[in-house]
Amino acid sequence: MRVFIISDMEGVSGIVKWEQVTGGERLYEEGRVLYTEEINAAVRGAKRAGATEIVVMDCHGAGKGWTFNSLIPERLDPDCEWVVQHSWTEYTEILEQGCDAALCVAMHAMAGTADGGLCHTVSGTQWYNLWFNGTLVGETGINAALCGHWGCPIVLVTGDEAVCRETKELLGDGLTTVAVKRSFGRQSARNIHPVKARKMIEDGAMAALANFNAVKPYDPGKPCEITVEFATTENAASYRYRPGIEVVEPRKIVSTGPDWLTAWRQFYAF
Ligand SMILES: [Zn+2]
Repeated sequence: MRVFIISDMEGVSGIVKWEQVTGGERLYEEGRVLYTEEINAAVRGAKRAGATEIVVMDCHGAGKGWTFNSLIPERLDPDCEWVVQHSWTEYTEILEQGCDAALCVAMHAMAGTADGGLCHTVSGTQWYNLWFNGTLVGETGINAALCGHWGCPIVLVTGDEAVCRETKELLGDGLTTVAVKRSFGRQSARNIHPVKARKMIEDGAMAALANFNAVKPYDPGKPCEITVEFATTENAASYRYRPGIEVVEPRKIVSTGPDWLTAWRQFYAF
C-alpha cells in the first residue's frame, strides 16, 4: 500500500500563533519540532496499517527557504521519504504512479472561519474566498482535488475542530478526522497535549487506512469553474488576458477548464 501524507503547519496541537509558523522567528523552531512529530505519528499509523511506501509533502509556506521545507529531516521517521517542492501542487509523482490513499495532517480551516485557528485560504493577505464549481473550499479542498484527479482519496484529516467539520462536509462521513485542538479565535485554542495528540493521529491514520475505500476520490466536477475572490482589484487585474480566465468582478476571477486540474493550472502557475 502506497500512502501520501500531505501536511500543513497551522493545525498542529500547540501551534496557535503566527510566530510559530513563520520561518526566522524564534518560536518557529519549537513549531517545527511539534510539526515533525505529528507527521511521524501519521507515518507510524500508516506503517501499522501495512503501508509499504510513505511519501510526505509539506505544504506550509513558512517564508524564504523554509517554504514547503519546515520539517526537520533528522527527526523524521526513517520509514518515510519527504518532498520539498518549489511551488505548491507541483509534486504529483506518487499520484501519477498510483497511490492508494492520502492523509492530511495539521490542516487549518478556510479563510473567514470564526473558530478556525490561523485560518486562511492560500494567502492570508491576498485571497478572500475560493470556489470549485460553486462550492466554497479551503486548502484541504485543493489537496483533495489534486489527489482526486488521479483517483486517490484523502481518508484522514487532522487539525482543529473547525477544519475537521469543514472537511467532513466536503468529503463525506467516511472521512476519519482527528481534532487535536479547539480554536476559539484565529490565534487562540485549547490544545490536547502533544503526546496524546500524536497517539490520536497514529490511531486515526491506522483506522482510516484500514478502510480507505470509505471515502471517494474528490472530483469537483467536469467541466470545472474555479472562482477566486481576491483582497484587492490589482490582485485580480494581474490575471487579465490569460487564456481560460475571466475577471468577472473587480476582485474576482473565474478560471474554466474541462477538468479541475486544467482550470487550476491555468492560473496557479509555478
Ligand atoms: Zn500553512
